[in-house]
Amino acid sequence: MNARRVVKHPIKHPAIKNPVETLANTRHEFGEHGGVNMSIEASTTFTAMHPDILAEIFTGERGPDKGGCYLYGRHFNPTVYNLSRQLAALEDTEAAYCTASGMAAIAGTLFGLCDSGDHIVSSNTVYGGTYALLHDFLPAKAGITTALVEITDLAAVEAAIRPNTKVLYAESIANPTLRMANIPALADIAHRHGLKLVIDNTFSPLILSPKQLGADIVVHSLTKFIGGASDHIAGAICADKEFILGLMDLHTGALMLLGPTMDPQVAFDLNLRIPHLPLRMVEHGRRAQLFAERLKALGLAVNYPGLPEHPDYTLMRELHCSDYGCGGILTLDMGTEELANQLMDMLQNDYRFGYMAVSLGYFDTLMSCSGSTTSSELTEADKARAHISPGLVRLSLGFTGTAEQRWRQLQSALERLGVVGGPAARQAAEEVA
Ligand code: PLP
Repeated sequence: MNARRVVKHPIKHPAIKNPVETLANTRHEFGEHGGVNMSIEASTTFTAMHPDILAEIFTGERGPDKGGCYLYGRHFNPTVYNLSRQLAALEDTEAAYCTASGMAAIAGTLFGLCDSGDHIVSSNTVYGGTYALLHDFLPAKAGITTALVEITDLAAVEAAIRPNTKVLYAESIANPTLRMANIPALADIAHRHGLKLVIDNTFSPLILSPKQLGADIVVHSLTKFIGGASDHIAGAICADKEFILGLMDLHTGALMLLGPTMDPQVAFDLNLRIPHLPLRMVEHGRRAQLFAERLKALGLAVNYPGLPEHPDYTLMRELHCSDYGCGGILTLDMGTEELANQLMDMLQNDYRFGYMAVSLGYFDTLMSCSGSTTSSELTEADKARAHISPGLVRLSLGFTGTAEQRWRQLQSALERLGVVGGPAARQAAEEVA
């Protein structure tokens, strides 16, 4: 018998604010000559006009907002800081800071919250790199241990908390199972036990606003949807000012001392992607929803949180900002890795439907078998438990070409593989269309 206390967590219904409204009011920085785009501040170091000022900047008494100036690029850079302010607006947090990768944002956050001997409770279904950080790297290198739990089992989450637990960690929409974190319920558990709730919102910028839903810190891989062009590896930490400043502390700051700084040129490029992020998210989501419905009508094993069959369909409807749909990612279980590979090969090389590549959030479709790539770090037992089967194809739906053209390509490939094709199946798909 399960002796655990079953905790009931009613979902709160926060009034979801569309983050674009805050974003639109974020201070826009003009370029040096009045340009509509900000200038790139490429300098790694900054001049002080008086010797006393340099010492005062170092002690933190004088920053750019206190009559002093910027000090050194690894600490704060104006161009990176400008992008950071936009991410704070996007996530409705007091502050944010950008990093050289999503992994740097995650690792920096965890090092900021935990000391050696501390403990983390994390979802057992997270991006493979995050899993390896928690499961392998942090215990070996820093003495920080993690209990990996089924994040949808709230009683299991609470039961895993120990006296030395400092962090509750989850992905808003898990990679690649697309199971959702019940952020208000997790926040309730975290805060009752004095923990910080950290949410990786990489899969759902704009769709979900973890801070509004109760999270303390939101991390992003900007490499994905926010970047949108698969041309920059980048990340961000969105949190309160105190936490961000702590990451920059000269003695103990994880970002300051491990040094995963974002390059100002990258910050400038990403700054130009933010204004059309809402448009892109809408179209990613529209296509994913359409394809998910049609694949379902063909009788295929499709998984998408916008389908009523998805276990978190209701939760998604309660928590998301409906202007942006249910996300641009779906998975299709082809049964075997061989069939999955044949499908991806055909789609890339015969149809130019998309690319066989890891990552997501690109303007073209990206396809990969999660089990042998981005979730390969998971133990076989953890993969099996999360239903990450060898034939599971993760599709990040792009928006090039027309939706109908892309659907014809996908349907044709599935027919050639003999996976679908009966007249009844075709008629069902047409009815959904
Ligand atoms: N978080 C999630 C959900 C991811 O899918 C990834 C990468 O795939 C990362 C974090 C890591 O991001 P990056 O590759 O920018 O370090």
